[in-house]
Amino acid sequence: MRAVTVKPGVANSLSLVEDQPEPEPEEGAVLVEALAVGICGTDHEIIAGEYGEAPAGADRLIIGHESLGRVLEDPTGTLQPGDLVAGIVRHPDPVPCPNCAVGEWDMCRNGQYTEHGIKALPGFARDRWRIEPQFAVRLDPALGRVGMLLEPTSVVAKAWDHIERIGHRAEWQPQTVLVTGAGPIGLLAALLATQRGLAVHVLDRATSGPKPELVAALGASYHTVPVTKLPFEPDVVVECTGAPTVVIDVMCQAAPTGIVCLAGVSSGGRSIDFDAGALNRALVLENNVVFGSVNANRRHWNMAAQALSRADQSWLESLLTRRLPVERYAEAYTAEKGDIKVVLEFGD
Ligand SMILES: [Zn+2]
Repeated sequence: MRAVTVKPGVANSLSLVEDQPEPEPEEGAVLVEALAVGICGTDHEIIAGEYGEAPAGADRLIIGHESLGRVLEDPTGTLQPGDLVAGIVRHPDPVPCPNCAVGEWDMCRNGQYTEHGIKALPGFARDRWRIEPQFAVRLDPALGRVGMLLEPTSVVAKAWDHIERIGHRAEWQPQTVLVTGAGPIGLLAALLATQRGLAVHVLDRATSGPKPELVAALGASYHTVPVTKLPFEPDVVVECTGAPTVVIDVMCQAAPTGIVCLAGVSSGGRSIDFDAGALNRALVLENNVVFGSVNANRRHWNMAAQALSRADQSWLESLLTRRLPVERYAEAYTAEKGDIKVVLEFGD
């Protein structure tokens, strides 16, 4: 069968293997036929040789962590043949740490977790894959064209879950949300905000392309001004750019008792000048919270599956700006201007 692979640590080693062996039964009881994988920044980092780890004893890593497939067989009876599923990316560390021990592998304390298509577990960009039923998430059959959005949606479902848990430390009636960055994560964070009935503002640099329309279609406002020029103070910020200036500015712009969720990863190595004392003063005197959020556990994947099935399917489909068959993998994994989410499709 076919599999999209890299040699971790070696830049531009991306290749389509045509004679990949069938998945080993040890990989899980559920056999799944791949329909598609979504492509994200992590894949680009892995292809650039900056990230990624092959399974023990292997020199190549099958990539792909934003999965969508159809169940071929599940001898455990948990899933039925024909069910649409996505595979949970992260698996708990073997120790396990206190968080992994209770299924909160998204909060792993020791970093020894594994991840399909990223860290020591084979990914989903292959014709068939296997997974244990507790790591397979069943999707609404209506999500057959967009279900590969479940993984990025699980990441924002976790962010919102933690925002709400933090919010309920005291009386909390948020009204205004600012999302910075209108990539797939930002747009999905905005979708989940609108599903909560909040007034949603999205800020991005793009003045053309699909982003302004995608935001407007959610009933949200689109801004291209610097954060400090926004005419409001958000109760909640979901920061998805990782851009240092934006990160600092949203901390200062948040309303009293505001919550800032940092969901974008900075590359580091760039310094900016800012007044740390003034920031400290603003956070303390306004009871503000700034926290980081990454990955998702089973509960968040289930929340994400519900959020996607409640969403406008045509809006979700419009996030998928390019869909390419697996033979055109090289094109699919080359970023183009105007891309929001690129999808690699399996099947005939
Ligand atoms: Zn752990």
